[in-house]
Amino acid sequence: MSKHPPRKGRNPSSNERLAHEQGTVYRDWGGRLPIGLVYPNSYFVGMSSLGYQTIYRLLNDTPGIVCERAFWEKNNSVRTPALSVESERPLNDFAVLAFSLSYELDYFNIPRILEAAGIPVYAAERDETHPLIIAGGPCVSANPLPVAPFFDAICVGEAEAILPALMPVIADSSGAHRQDTLIEIARIPGIYVPQVPPEKPVSRQWVKDLDAYRVTSSVLTPDTELGDLYMVEVERGCGWGCRFCLLCSAFRPMRSHKAEKILEYAREGLEFRKRMGLVGPAVTDHPQIEQILGGLREMGAEISISSLRLTTLTPQLLEYMGEGGIKTITVAPEAGTQRLREVIKKEITEDQIMEAVALAAARSMQLKFYFMVGLPSETDEDVSEIARLTLRVKAAADKYGKGRRITVNLSPFVPKAGTPFQWLPMAPVSEIERRIDIIQGYLSGAGIKANVEGPAWSEVQAALARGDERLAKVMAEMPSVSFSHWQKGMKNHGIDINETVHQQWPVKQKLPWSMIDPGVSPEKLKRELESAGF
Ligand code: SF4
Repeated sequence: MSKHPPRKGRNPSSNERLAHEQGTVYRDWGGRLPIGLVYPNSYFVGMSSLGYQTIYRLLNDTPGIVCERAFWEKNNSVRTPALSVESERPLNDFAVLAFSLSYELDYFNIPRILEAAGIPVYAAERDETHPLIIAGGPCVSANPLPVAPFFDAICVGEAEAILPALMPVIADSSGAHRQDTLIEIARIPGIYVPQVPPEKPVSRQWVKDLDAYRVTSSVLTPDTELGDLYMVEVERGCGWGCRFCLLCSAFRPMRSHKAEKILEYAREGLEFRKRMGLVGPAVTDHPQIEQILGGLREMGAEISISSLRLTTLTPQLLEYMGEGGIKTITVAPEAGTQRLREVIKKEITEDQIMEAVALAAARSMQLKFYFMVGLPSETDEDVSEIARLTLRVKAAADKYGKGRRITVNLSPFVPKAGTPFQWLPMAPVSEIERRIDIIQGYLSGAGIKANVEGPAWSEVQAALARGDERLAKVMAEMPSVSFSHWQKGMKNHGIDINETVHQQWPVKQKLPWSMIDPGVSPEKLKRELESAGF
């Protein structure tokens, strides 16, 4: 990883940012296809996305391509549009703008970025003089409709499986009529071109051999949330099949990198960072996890783990994790009662939770719990049990000495396209608020910190997860991103939030995102829904 000196004539704050980076790729544009890789949120947030970093490496490693990054900061506007990080070029100088979308709420920034760059917001209004605007990410792979009018093409599935086929077609299309290019692109597996409706559903693409790709940090900077980590992907997809989980449906099947590869990358990463960030939906599920953690300890690396499953946590793993500097164990029971955990297929029992609590507390680790509020079929008893379970956890941890901090994160259930719960409603905002109050009432004064995700914006997220093309206009026409502008826009366009978010949809009804083949048949999703009791 090279470190480059700041360049003359640049904005001083951009210079400072670049001076902090290691691994930045600077390429001459001559004869290369210039691609702007856009993260529609701040540099601080985007640079911690391993997916974003991986695409940057993948594109810059492709002969004939130069890829530069761009972000959307709070102070960006039509007067101060986003520029590329590497060469400070305006975004309409690029032949392609590739948006990496991780969260639905980042959708609001898409029309703002395009407008500020002087690029027509809607694909139908663009011509050969404008860049091709493409997108990818798990949420648009599941339901691309709310942002479809903004994009020329949307990648359905994993970038590594799609970009190597897409890029040569775009590179060869120079001088071609835009519509001809779009028709050509629409033939590539895993590409949805909204202006060229597909004859059959677009099937999600995924890579079979994960080890064929290096998925690690590519640009290191301290100016990001996970700035002290060298990130290494351990696995992708999750075999547990929780019925609400987008991660599980968007990245199935579960695949893992070999321990030898992970340790090889970690050894290289140690030159830059002491702490290795192991990334995956349930890191302790890796079949060689003991070998990986043991190997990391042998080389003296500190360890960080993005998330783990209690059921695969052993005393030996906790030992390695403690030695590797992990101070907090994050656990996601999601529901307070066994009944509701079975409904959502979160296969962990209270005994397993308590066992893990004892193991972690004995090592003076802090505990962080994630619960969802408003899950389908949830009763007040389930809600109260979230608080009671947390209190039992606190009492069990306190047996090992005071000061073991317990944090509880409460977030509303949001139905996601492509999951077995896609047909089920989100509970009304007022009802979720009432249930959160119940939990907070129990926990008040108990020395437990509760972080609450606001249900109003979760309702917006649910609309963007289950909604259709009409939402693009709502987002594009909002003078600024605020809840009141959103509500006004929904009303102006006659979109019923109740119908989009709060109603159970009949399984026979055609889903808005039926042009996507997620890789699991609707019959299988329906069977899962039935097994959950709906
Ligand atoms: S264990 Fe976690 S990542 Fe896996 S399916 Fe369940 S919620 Fe999703």
